[in-house]
Amino acid sequence: MAAIQHNKTRGMLSGKVVLITGAARGMGSVEAQLFAREGATVVVADVDESQGELTVQNISQLGGTAMFVLLDVSSEQDWIEAIKKVDLQFGRLDGLVNNAGVFSDSKIKDTSVEEWDRTIAVNARGTFLGLKHSTVLMQQSGGGSIVNISSTVGLVGGPFEGAYTASKGAVRLLTKAAALQYAKYNIRVNSVHPHITATDMVASLLDDPDTLDRLLSKIPLRRIAQPEEIAKVVMFLISDEASYMTGSEVVVDGGYTAQ
Ligand code: NAD
Repeated sequence: MAAIQHNKTRGMLSGKVVLITGAARGMGSVEAQLFAREGATVVVADVDESQGELTVQNISQLGGTAMFVLLDVSSEQDWIEAIKKVDLQFGRLDGLVNNAGVFSDSKIKDTSVEEWDRTIAVNARGTFLGLKHSTVLMQQSGGGSIVNISSTVGLVGGPFEGAYTASKGAVRLLTKAAALQYAKYNIRVNSVHPHITATDMVASLLDDPDTLDRLLSKIPLRRIAQPEEIAKVVMFLISDEASYMTGSEVVVDGGYTAQ
Protein backbone atom coordinates (compact mmCIF):
# COMPACT_ATOMS: atom_id res chain seq x y z
CA MET A 1 0.00 0.00 0.00
CA ALA A 2 1.25 3.53 -0.83
CA ALA A 3 2.68 5.82 1.85
CA ILE A 4 -0.08 7.48 3.86
CA GLN A 5 1.73 10.35 5.60
CA HIS A 6 0.77 12.98 3.07
CA ASN A 7 -2.96 12.43 3.51
CA LYS A 8 -3.04 13.17 7.25
CA THR A 9 -4.19 16.73 6.66
CA ARG A 10 -6.03 16.51 3.36
CA GLY A 11 -7.32 12.95 3.05
CA MET A 12 -10.99 12.08 2.77
CA LEU A 13 -11.12 11.30 6.52
CA SER A 14 -8.48 13.68 7.87
CA GLY A 15 -9.08 14.75 11.47
CA LYS A 16 -11.55 11.95 12.15
CA VAL A 17 -11.26 9.26 14.82
CA VAL A 18 -12.94 6.06 13.58
CA LEU A 19 -13.46 2.78 15.46
CA ILE A 20 -13.77 -0.37 13.34
CA THR A 21 -14.88 -3.63 14.95
CA GLY A 22 -13.50 -6.89 13.60
CA ALA A 23 -10.57 -4.95 12.14
CA ALA A 24 -7.94 -7.62 12.82
CA ARG A 25 -8.72 -9.46 9.58
CA GLY A 26 -10.79 -9.40 6.41
CA MET A 27 -12.78 -6.36 5.34
CA GLY A 28 -12.27 -4.61 8.69
CA SER A 29 -8.49 -4.74 8.37
CA VAL A 30 -8.64 -3.45 4.78
CA GLU A 31 -10.93 -0.61 5.91
CA ALA A 32 -8.58 0.27 8.78
CA GLN A 33 -5.62 0.61 6.39
CA LEU A 34 -7.61 2.53 3.77
CA PHE A 35 -9.07 4.93 6.35
CA ALA A 36 -5.62 5.60 7.82
CA ARG A 37 -4.30 6.32 4.33
CA GLU A 38 -7.04 8.92 4.03
CA GLY A 39 -5.99 10.64 7.25
CA ALA A 40 -8.17 8.98 9.91
CA THR A 41 -6.95 7.94 13.32
CA VAL A 42 -8.15 4.34 13.50
CA VAL A 43 -9.18 2.31 16.52
CA VAL A 44 -8.74 -1.34 15.58
CA ALA A 45 -11.14 -3.35 17.76
CA ASP A 46 -11.26 -7.14 17.77
CA VAL A 47 -11.17 -10.30 19.90
CA ASP A 48 -8.00 -11.35 18.05
CA GLU A 49 -5.28 -9.33 19.76
CA SER A 50 -2.21 -10.60 17.88
CA GLN A 51 -3.75 -10.14 14.45
CA GLY A 52 -5.23 -6.78 15.51
CA GLU A 53 -1.82 -5.54 16.63
CA LEU A 54 -0.52 -6.56 13.17
CA THR A 55 -3.10 -4.30 11.52
CA VAL A 56 -1.97 -1.46 13.81
CA GLN A 57 1.68 -2.17 12.93
CA ASN A 58 0.91 -2.07 9.19
CA ILE A 59 -0.77 1.31 9.62
CA SER A 60 2.10 2.69 11.73
CA GLN A 61 4.69 1.50 9.20
CA LEU A 62 2.89 3.48 6.52
CA GLY A 63 2.91 6.62 8.69
CA GLY A 64 -0.66 6.42 9.98
CA THR A 65 -2.07 6.51 13.51
CA ALA A 66 -3.87 3.54 15.02
CA MET A 67 -4.57 1.91 18.39
CA PHE A 68 -5.69 -1.63 19.19
CA VAL A 69 -8.56 -2.20 21.62
CA LEU A 70 -9.57 -5.67 22.79
CA LEU A 71 -13.34 -5.83 22.26
CA ASP A 72 -15.82 -8.68 22.11
CA VAL A 73 -18.72 -6.83 20.47
CA SER A 74 -21.27 -9.06 22.20
CA SER A 75 -20.14 -7.84 25.65
CA GLU A 76 -21.64 -4.61 27.00
CA GLN A 77 -18.83 -4.24 29.55
CA ASP A 78 -16.23 -4.49 26.77
CA TRP A 79 -17.98 -1.71 24.86
CA ILE A 80 -18.09 0.55 27.93
CA GLU A 81 -14.35 0.06 28.47
CA ALA A 82 -13.44 0.44 24.78
CA ILE A 83 -15.26 3.76 24.43
CA LYS A 84 -13.66 4.97 27.69
CA LYS A 85 -10.21 4.17 26.22
CA VAL A 86 -10.99 6.05 22.99
CA ASP A 87 -12.18 9.06 25.00
CA LEU A 88 -9.05 9.03 27.18
CA GLN A 89 -6.67 8.60 24.25
CA PHE A 90 -8.26 10.82 21.59
CA GLY A 91 -11.07 12.76 23.35
CA ARG A 92 -13.50 12.24 20.48
CA LEU A 93 -15.15 9.74 18.14
CA ASP A 94 -16.35 10.65 14.64
CA GLY A 95 -17.00 7.29 13.02
CA LEU A 96 -17.89 3.70 13.82
CA VAL A 97 -18.00 0.68 11.54
CA ASN A 98 -19.95 -2.19 13.12
CA ASN A 99 -18.14 -4.75 10.97
CA ALA A 100 -17.36 -7.68 13.31
CA GLY A 101 -19.39 -10.71 12.41
CA VAL A 102 -19.54 -14.48 12.47
CA PHE A 103 -20.90 -16.63 9.68
CA SER A 104 -23.22 -19.56 10.17
CA ASP A 105 -24.26 -21.51 7.09
CA SER A 106 -26.54 -24.07 8.70
CA LYS A 107 -30.01 -24.44 7.28
CA ILE A 108 -32.81 -23.77 9.78
CA LYS A 109 -33.40 -27.48 10.43
CA ASP A 110 -29.72 -27.97 11.27
CA THR A 111 -29.21 -24.89 13.46
CA SER A 112 -28.72 -25.56 17.16
CA VAL A 113 -30.01 -23.09 19.72
CA GLU A 114 -26.38 -22.42 20.70
CA GLU A 115 -25.43 -21.54 17.09
CA TRP A 116 -28.50 -19.31 16.78
CA ASP A 117 -27.69 -17.48 20.05
CA ARG A 118 -24.00 -16.98 19.21
CA THR A 119 -24.73 -15.65 15.70
CA ILE A 120 -27.39 -13.23 16.94
CA ALA A 121 -25.20 -12.20 19.90
CA VAL A 122 -22.23 -11.17 17.75
CA ASN A 123 -23.96 -9.84 14.62
CA ALA A 124 -27.13 -8.25 16.01
CA ARG A 125 -26.44 -7.59 19.71
CA GLY A 126 -22.90 -6.45 18.82
CA THR A 127 -24.30 -3.85 16.42
CA PHE A 128 -26.90 -2.70 18.95
CA LEU A 129 -24.25 -2.28 21.67
CA GLY A 130 -21.98 -0.41 19.27
CA LEU A 131 -24.77 2.05 18.50
CA LYS A 132 -25.75 2.43 22.15
CA HIS A 133 -22.27 3.16 23.50
CA SER A 134 -20.46 4.94 20.65
CA THR A 135 -23.15 7.56 20.17
CA VAL A 136 -22.58 9.09 23.61
CA LEU A 137 -19.00 10.08 22.72
CA MET A 138 -20.05 10.96 19.15
CA GLN A 139 -22.65 13.40 20.48
CA GLN A 140 -19.96 15.06 22.60
CA SER A 141 -17.83 15.30 19.42
CA GLY A 142 -20.57 17.20 17.55
CA GLY A 143 -21.90 14.27 15.49
CA GLY A 144 -20.58 11.44 13.40
CA SER A 145 -21.25 8.62 10.97
CA ILE A 146 -21.95 4.95 11.66
CA VAL A 147 -21.88 2.14 9.11
CA ASN A 148 -23.41 -1.22 10.01
CA ILE A 149 -22.23 -4.12 7.88
CA SER A 150 -25.21 -6.26 6.93
CA SER A 151 -25.26 -8.52 3.85
CA THR A 152 -27.33 -9.34 0.79
CA VAL A 153 -28.94 -11.92 3.05
CA GLY A 154 -30.16 -9.02 5.18
CA LEU A 155 -32.26 -8.03 2.14
CA VAL A 156 -33.29 -11.35 0.63
CA GLY A 157 -33.36 -14.82 2.18
CA GLY A 158 -30.19 -16.88 2.34
CA PRO A 159 -30.93 -20.30 0.82
CA PHE A 160 -28.42 -22.00 3.11
CA GLU A 161 -28.59 -19.85 6.23
CA GLY A 162 -31.02 -19.33 9.09
CA ALA A 163 -29.43 -17.52 12.02
CA TYR A 164 -27.06 -15.51 9.80
CA THR A 165 -29.90 -14.19 7.62
CA ALA A 166 -31.93 -13.27 10.70
CA SER A 167 -28.97 -11.46 12.27
CA LYS A 168 -28.25 -9.44 9.12
CA GLY A 169 -31.94 -8.58 8.68
CA ALA A 170 -31.90 -7.25 12.24
CA VAL A 171 -28.87 -5.10 11.40
CA ARG A 172 -30.73 -3.61 8.41
CA LEU A 173 -33.77 -2.42 10.35
CA LEU A 174 -31.84 -1.46 13.49
CA THR A 175 -29.91 0.86 11.17
CA LYS A 176 -33.10 2.62 10.12
CA ALA A 177 -34.34 2.98 13.72
CA ALA A 178 -30.96 4.40 14.72
CA ALA A 179 -30.95 6.81 11.77
CA LEU A 180 -34.27 8.22 13.01
CA GLN A 181 -33.21 8.39 16.65
CA TYR A 182 -29.77 9.96 16.18
CA ALA A 183 -30.41 12.40 13.31
CA LYS A 184 -31.05 15.19 15.79
CA TYR A 185 -27.51 14.72 17.15
CA ASN A 186 -26.02 15.00 13.64
CA ILE A 187 -25.17 11.29 13.64
CA ARG A 188 -25.82 9.48 10.35
CA VAL A 189 -26.39 5.71 10.32
CA ASN A 190 -26.36 3.58 7.17
CA SER A 191 -26.06 -0.12 6.37
CA VAL A 192 -23.86 -1.74 3.73
CA HIS A 193 -24.89 -5.00 2.09
CA PRO A 194 -22.03 -6.93 0.47
CA HIS A 195 -22.48 -10.21 -1.32
CA ILE A 196 -19.74 -12.88 -1.30
CA THR A 197 -16.40 -11.16 -0.65
CA ALA A 198 -12.97 -12.79 -0.70
CA THR A 199 -12.06 -13.07 3.00
CA ASP A 200 -11.38 -15.90 5.48
CA MET A 201 -15.07 -15.93 6.40
CA VAL A 202 -16.07 -17.61 3.15
CA ALA A 203 -12.72 -19.20 2.17
CA SER A 204 -14.09 -22.75 2.48
CA LEU A 205 -16.93 -21.92 0.04
CA LEU A 206 -14.55 -20.34 -2.48
CA ASP A 207 -12.06 -23.23 -2.26
CA ASP A 208 -14.66 -25.69 -3.50
CA PRO A 209 -14.86 -25.40 -7.33
CA ASP A 210 -18.48 -26.60 -7.56
CA THR A 211 -19.66 -24.19 -4.88
CA LEU A 212 -17.70 -21.35 -6.48
CA ASP A 213 -19.28 -22.07 -9.89
CA ARG A 214 -22.73 -22.13 -8.36
CA LEU A 215 -22.12 -18.82 -6.56
CA LEU A 216 -20.64 -17.12 -9.64
CA SER A 217 -23.54 -18.22 -11.84
CA LYS A 218 -25.87 -16.07 -9.71
CA ILE A 219 -23.71 -12.92 -9.78
CA PRO A 220 -24.26 -10.75 -12.90
CA LEU A 221 -20.68 -9.38 -12.74
CA ARG A 222 -19.47 -13.04 -12.63
CA ARG A 223 -16.80 -12.48 -9.99
CA ILE A 224 -16.38 -12.41 -6.21
CA ALA A 225 -15.88 -8.96 -4.60
CA GLN A 226 -12.49 -7.97 -3.23
CA PRO A 227 -12.57 -6.48 0.30
CA GLU A 228 -11.24 -3.15 -1.06
CA GLU A 229 -14.41 -2.81 -3.16
CA ILE A 230 -16.53 -2.88 -0.01
CA ALA A 231 -14.09 -0.76 2.02
CA LYS A 232 -14.24 2.14 -0.44
CA VAL A 233 -18.03 2.32 -0.15
CA VAL A 234 -17.84 2.20 3.64
CA MET A 235 -15.25 4.98 3.58
CA PHE A 236 -17.54 7.15 1.46
CA LEU A 237 -20.37 6.71 3.98
CA ILE A 238 -18.10 7.53 6.93
CA SER A 239 -16.80 10.63 5.14
CA ASP A 240 -18.48 14.03 4.90
CA GLU A 241 -18.99 13.34 1.17
CA ALA A 242 -22.08 11.34 2.26
CA SER A 243 -23.40 14.21 4.42
CA TYR A 244 -27.06 13.83 3.32
CA MET A 245 -27.21 10.03 3.60
CA THR A 246 -28.80 8.43 6.62
CA GLY A 247 -31.00 5.35 7.01
CA SER A 248 -29.88 4.07 3.60
CA GLU A 249 -29.14 0.47 2.68
CA VAL A 250 -26.21 0.51 0.29
CA VAL A 251 -25.97 -2.66 -1.77
CA VAL A 252 -22.52 -3.70 -3.07
CA ASP A 253 -23.26 -7.05 -4.65
CA GLY A 254 -22.20 -7.27 -8.31
CA GLY A 255 -25.87 -7.16 -9.25
CA TYR A 256 -26.95 -10.20 -7.18
CA THR A 257 -30.15 -8.61 -5.79
CA ALA A 258 -31.04 -6.81 -9.05
CA GLN A 259 -32.47 -9.96 -10.61
P1 NAD B 1 -13.59 -12.28 8.63
O1 NAD B 1 -14.01 -13.56 9.26
O2 NAD B 1 -12.53 -12.27 7.62
O3 NAD B 1 -13.26 -11.21 9.75
C1 NAD B 1 -14.13 -11.02 10.85
C2 NAD B 1 -13.37 -10.31 11.96
O4 NAD B 1 -14.32 -10.14 13.05
C3 NAD B 1 -12.19 -11.10 12.50
O5 NAD B 1 -11.08 -10.26 12.70
C4 NAD B 1 -12.72 -11.66 13.84
O6 NAD B 1 -11.69 -11.86 14.80
C5 NAD B 1 -13.67 -10.53 14.25
N1 NAD B 1 -14.67 -10.97 15.23
C6 NAD B 1 -15.41 -12.11 15.23
N2 NAD B 1 -16.18 -12.16 16.32
C7 NAD B 1 -15.95 -11.02 17.02
C8 NAD B 1 -16.44 -10.49 18.25
N3 NAD B 1 -17.35 -11.14 19.00
N4 NAD B 1 -15.99 -9.28 18.66
C9 NAD B 1 -15.05 -8.61 17.93
N5 NAD B 1 -14.53 -9.07 16.79
C10 NAD B 1 -14.98 -10.26 16.33
O7 NAD B 1 -14.98 -11.70 8.01
P2 NAD B 1 -15.25 -10.61 6.85
O8 NAD B 1 -15.60 -11.34 5.62
O9 NAD B 1 -14.19 -9.57 6.84
O10 NAD B 1 -16.61 -10.01 7.42
C11 NAD B 1 -16.76 -8.68 7.84
C12 NAD B 1 -18.26 -8.37 7.89
O11 NAD B 1 -18.83 -8.48 6.59
C13 NAD B 1 -19.06 -9.34 8.76
O12 NAD B 1 -20.06 -8.65 9.47
C14 NAD B 1 -19.70 -10.28 7.75
O13 NAD B 1 -20.87 -10.89 8.24
C15 NAD B 1 -19.97 -9.32 6.62
N6 NAD B 1 -20.12 -9.93 5.31
C16 NAD B 1 -19.15 -10.72 4.79
C17 NAD B 1 -19.32 -11.28 3.53
C18 NAD B 1 -18.27 -12.16 2.91
O14 NAD B 1 -18.59 -12.83 1.90
N7 NAD B 1 -17.04 -12.18 3.39
C19 NAD B 1 -20.49 -11.01 2.79
C20 NAD B 1 -21.46 -10.18 3.35
C21 NAD B 1 -21.26 -9.64 4.61
